Amino acid sequence: MPRYEYRCRTCGDTFELNRPMAESSAPAACPVGHDDTVKLLSAVAVGGTAKGGAPAPSQGGGGGCCGGGCCG
Ligand SMILES: [Zn+2]
Repeated sequence: MPRYEYRCRTCGDTFELNRPMAESSAPAACPVGHDDTVKLLSAVAVGGTAKGGAPAPSQGGGGGCCGGGCCG
């Protein structure tokens, strides 16, 4: 069962719930009981290549030794 992360706008707490996809957008009350919550994007859909992604082939410009042809 997929896990979804929610954030309570009342107390600012974040919490996770395991629930069916069909109920992913259903209202979820925070552990304290507030129901003014928003569903956060899943970790796989946010962040781009910042974490866990393959390293970029060229890291910026200037100073790249092998990119400038100085090493062979
Ligand atoms: Zn709350």
